Amino acid sequence: MDLELSSADIEFRDHLREVFLDEVPADIRRRSALNQTTHDDIVTSQRILNRHGLAVPHWPAQWGGKGWTATQSHIYGSELQRAAVPQPLAFNVSMVGPIIAEFGSEEQKQKFLPATANLDIWWSQGFSEPEAGSDLASLKTTARRDGDVYVLNGQKTWTTLGQYGDWMFVLARTNPEAARKQQGISFLLLDLTTPGIERRPITLVDGSAEVNEFFFDNVVIPAENLVGEENMGWTYAKFLLGNERNSIAHVGTAQRVFADLAASAQTTPTGTGALAQDAAFRGSMHAIKTKLLALEATQLRVTGASENGAASPVSSLLKLEGTRTLQELTRLRMTAAGTDAALVHTDGPLQADEAATASATQYLNLRKLSIFGGSNEIQRGVIAKTILNL
Ligand SMILES: Cc1cc2nc3c(=O)[nH]c(=O)nc-3n(C[C@H](O)[C@H](O)[C@H](O)COP(=O)(O)OP(=O)(O)OC[C@H]3O[C@@H](n4cnc5c(N)ncnc54)[C@H](O)[C@@H]3O)c2cc1C
Repeated sequence: MDLELSSADIEFRDHLREVFLDEVPADIRRRSALNQTTHDDIVTSQRILNRHGLAVPHWPAQWGGKGWTATQSHIYGSELQRAAVPQPLAFNVSMVGPIIAEFGSEEQKQKFLPATANLDIWWSQGFSEPEAGSDLASLKTTARRDGDVYVLNGQKTWTTLGQYGDWMFVLARTNPEAARKQQGISFLLLDLTTPGIERRPITLVDGSAEVNEFFFDNVVIPAENLVGEENMGWTYAKFLLGNERNSIAHVGTAQRVFADLAASAQTTPTGTGALAQDAAFRGSMHAIKTKLLALEATQLRVTGASENGAASPVSSLLKLEGTRTLQELTRLRMTAAGTDAALVHTDGPLQADEAATASATQYLNLRKLSIFGGSNEIQRGVIAKTILNL
C-alpha cells in the first residue's frame, strides 16, 4: 500500500482542513481538545459538518455518503481529530445510522436517517446490562410481542450520554426459547419519552456523570420500530460493533496530543533543564512516535478491508493499540504537568495553563477506552482467534 498522499489527496485534505478550522468555532475545538465538550458543542459542530456534507461520509450515497476511497476516509477521520473537531456522535453516524441504512425498512430510512445525520435525534446505545457486557449475548432484557407492539422489560447500563438521548437502539430478547443465546435477540428503536422508562446517572472516576443506567417497566414499542427481521439482532449488532472499534482508535487525536506535548515539553522545566531533554521522557515519546506511524498504516489497512461492508478483524488490533497509545499519552501529559495537574473543580474558566489542569481529569476519563467498545482483553482474544489462528 502506498503511504504517500497523492496531490489530489493533499488537495482533498486541505479542503477538509479549511472547513474544520474555519467553520467549526475555535472555542468548540478548544473545549474538545480539553475533553470538555458540551451537548451543544456536539450538536452545533455536527450540524456544521452536515451542512458541508461531512457528517456521514461513509453512509450510502443516497443518504449523504460520499463514496470516498479508503485513503480519503482515513484523511477525514484523522484531520477531524487533529483539528479537535468534536467527533460526529458515534451512536448516530457509526452505529445506528449504518444499521438502518443497511437493514431498516424504507419508512425507517425516510423517518430516521436525515434526522440522525443532522443530530435532530440524539441516539443512545442500549446494549450492555449488569450481567451482559463482554458476554453481550447473555442479555436478559425482554421484548415480548403482543399484537402490533413489543413490551420491553429489563435494565440497560453504562449508557453513554444517555442523559441527552431522544431515542435508544436496544438489543432485547424476543425469543427466550432459542437454542443458542445469540439467537432470539432483536434490534429495536425506542423513543425515550415512552412511559415506563427510568434513567439514573452513574458517577465516574473523574467526577463526571456521562454514563447512565436505564430501567424499563412494560415499555410499549410499536412493532414498526423493529429493525430488519425479528430474532436477527445479533447479526446487526456484530456489524455495528466492528464500526465502533474503528472509530474508538483515535489515531488522529493521539497525533494531536503528541504534537501538543512535544511542543510544551520544550518549555516545561524539570530542575535540570527542559522536559524535552529528559532521557526517560524522550524514550517514551520515541516509542509512541513509532507506534503512531504503525497505527496510521494499520488504520489504512482496516479502512481498505472494511469497504465491502464487513468489519475487518484488524479493527480489534487498532482498538487495542490505539487506545493504549492514547492512554499512555495522557499519562505522560499528566506527568509533564506535574503539580499543575492537581485536580480542580471549577465552574468558571480555568485560570492556570488549561492543558495542564485538564490533564488529570483527561487521564482519568480516558481509562474508559480500554473497557468500552469491547474491553481490551476481549480484543486480545479476537486477535488470537481470528488473526493469529491460535
Ligand atoms: C465509560 C463507559 C461507557 C460505556 N458506554 C456504553 C454505551 O453507551 N452503551 C452500551 O451498551 N454499553 C456501554 N458500555 C459498556 C461496555 O461496552 C462494557 O463495560 C464492556 O463491554 C465490558 O463489559 P462489562 O463491564 O460487563 O465487564 P465484564 O465483561 O464483566 O469484564 C470484567 C473484566 O473481565 C475481563 N473479561 C471478561 N471476559 C473475558 C474473556 N473472555 N477473556 C478475557 N478477559 C475477559 C474484561 O476484559 C474485564 O477486564 C460502556 C462502558 C464504559 C466503562
